[in-house]
Amino acid sequence: MLCQICEYLDDPKNQGLRLWENDNLVLFLHLAAINPGHCLLVPKKHAVSINSIPNNVQAELLSLAPQLAQAVSRAVDADGYNIYIANGPVAGQSIEHAAVHLIPRHIDDGFSFALRNNENTIDIEDFKEKLLKRL
Ligand SMILES: [Zn+2]
Repeated sequence: MLCQICEYLDDPKNQGLRLWENDNLVLFLHLAAINPGHCLLVPKKHAVSINSIPNNVQAELLSLAPQLAQAVSRAVDADGYNIYIANGPVAGQSIEHAAVHLIPRHIDDGFSFALRNNENTIDIEDFKEKLLKRL
């Protein structure tokens, strides 16, 4: 069974909705947009998480995202943009297909990631040791 994004990409009637693509990636309008022009940049080959994409495709995805986000932003006369990756349901990933959100932003558009300003109470030495073991 195909995931929603693979199904969307495979559907012949959606081919015209592709805004840009190369051998590994495709850019298309997000159907649940935060702002007009909100796009998803995804690998053509199914991958659930950003970490499960082959390294060469992951590098391509992450290196092209700023250029494409800037173009998307300029195309809708936005004041800036967000590049957003939700990895895992707890991070807001709602479809099991890795995606980079390119979100045009406008002054007073009412959208916010509302970052918290909590003190980072983690023990840095313990954290560093655990982190380095996992690289
Ligand atoms: Zn998929």
